[in-house]
Amino acid sequence: MKIAYISFEVFPFAKVGGLADVAGALPKYINKTGEKIFVLMPYHRIVDKNAEGFLPEIFCENMIPEFHSSKKPFSVYKTKLSDSDVDVYLIKNEDIFYTEDIYGGDNLAFQSTYFCDSAITFIKKYFSDTDVINVNDWQTALIPVYLKTVYSENNEMRKISTVFTIHNLGYQGLFDSSELDNAGLPGYLYNVDALEFYGKVNFLKGGILFSDVINTVSKTYGEEIQTSEYSYGLDGVLKIRSDRLYGIINGIDYKVYNPSDDPSLFFPINNYADKIKNKKEFQKFLKLPERPDVPVISLISRLVDQKGLDLIFQIFEYLMLFDVQFVLLGTGDKKYMDFFSKMEEKYPEKVSANLKFDLDLAQKIYGSSDMFLMPSKYEPCGLGQMYAMRYGTVPVVRYTGGLADTVSEFYYEKEDSMGTGFGFYDYDSCKLFKAISKAVYVFYNEKERWNDLFNNCMKQDFSYENTALQYRELYKIAKDIKRRW
Ligand code: ADP
Repeated sequence: MKIAYISFEVFPFAKVGGLADVAGALPKYINKTGEKIFVLMPYHRIVDKNAEGFLPEIFCENMIPEFHSSKKPFSVYKTKLSDSDVDVYLIKNEDIFYTEDIYGGDNLAFQSTYFCDSAITFIKKYFSDTDVINVNDWQTALIPVYLKTVYSENNEMRKISTVFTIHNLGYQGLFDSSELDNAGLPGYLYNVDALEFYGKVNFLKGGILFSDVINTVSKTYGEEIQTSEYSYGLDGVLKIRSDRLYGIINGIDYKVYNPSDDPSLFFPINNYADKIKNKKEFQKFLKLPERPDVPVISLISRLVDQKGLDLIFQIFEYLMLFDVQFVLLGTGDKKYMDFFSKMEEKYPEKVSANLKFDLDLAQKIYGSSDMFLMPSKYEPCGLGQMYAMRYGTVPVVRYTGGLADTVSEFYYEKEDSMGTGFGFYDYDSCKLFKAISKAVYVFYNEKERWNDLFNNCMKQDFSYENTALQYRELYKIAKDIKRRW
């Protein structure tokens, strides 16, 4: 099969969240299963800064999106994903993708539709033998809509199957109905059975309704989003497509994230003693008291409501009663940034609040802390907990979505417990506090069990091989379905 993997973010070229990590790794592993795959993304301004050693080179120029109202020409640049034969094509128009920040433009709808139609125009000209297009999240969700409407009379394009991967249903791309006109899509799509959603156009809904196959990034999240609690209003639409809805957990790139060979770490980590050595250096690095006997609890996250930060707010002062250190790395909502700055001022010996985006520091934190918090309100897959376990850091999570599928409860009373962390179900700060307290208790009082827990985490296999095989099956299913709208 020939597969086009299309994403607005791809690591290392442009990253905001977990989507970039997946888009930068999964295609390499799909390629290893023997399928041909290429990646397509916008040429964001940030790419030139991030693509060191992989600077894209011109592939073609002066192309015009076929149906979009903007007739501004785009060029396509080409590079590769590191350590692979996977080609990456980047669609460039500096007037349209003009901001440093990937989502910083003042007309995201226009950027999205321009990119979607340009991507199809490009595929039509150069890769019309593509079997499956895998789009990701709302920014690329209109590609299946274009294919099943304005491109449907084209004999080659109508043969291409589509897979829509939902990484986060919380971000849907809601815009004024005039965006359909801008996109060059037919007005009849502004209809409750198509893209209309409470007086707006919903791009994500378009992806759900018009793709041949839909998947989310964990089985549990796939089930959760069919309930009103998690669906942001789309449970009815998802239920209509439930026979085509799959859940495949993401992996992490074991080559890039390798604790025994990670240049960001102070020392390679092969056992628990190595972890302690890292922790000591790390405490010095952050100007926290050098006390390897104290548990370091960490949080690396976008600071937004989804990540359960209000629960952390509620218990923070109680947590400070324990002999622990707390390290935060994150950016996001001001209320959360202000809160953690204040806590750092109040508890300089215990709290380090790093309010920035810093990949190197992230690795140091995964390598040097003891516990990793993810009390998310919802979590489609979550990568942080997997990185944490890979580096022997014990996750403390709310059992929802991918967190429920990747972390299992550690029963310290049982000698042979295979669990990897501590968790809770109800979205309740007392439950979070109880889970953290359990972790702190085991850390201080059950040293051998903590060592077992560390080993259980390090033994988990979240590598991409298995994920890639599941995607290959999904592509086969999509190819077999010749769904016409
Ligand atoms: P989401 O995609 O919802 O943000 P994930 O857990 O799936 O959450 O992925 C988040 C990714 O972004 C992880 O790789 C995490 O380490 C990284 N990350 C989040 N915030 C920062 C930050 N401030 N600095 C560096 N990396 C970060």
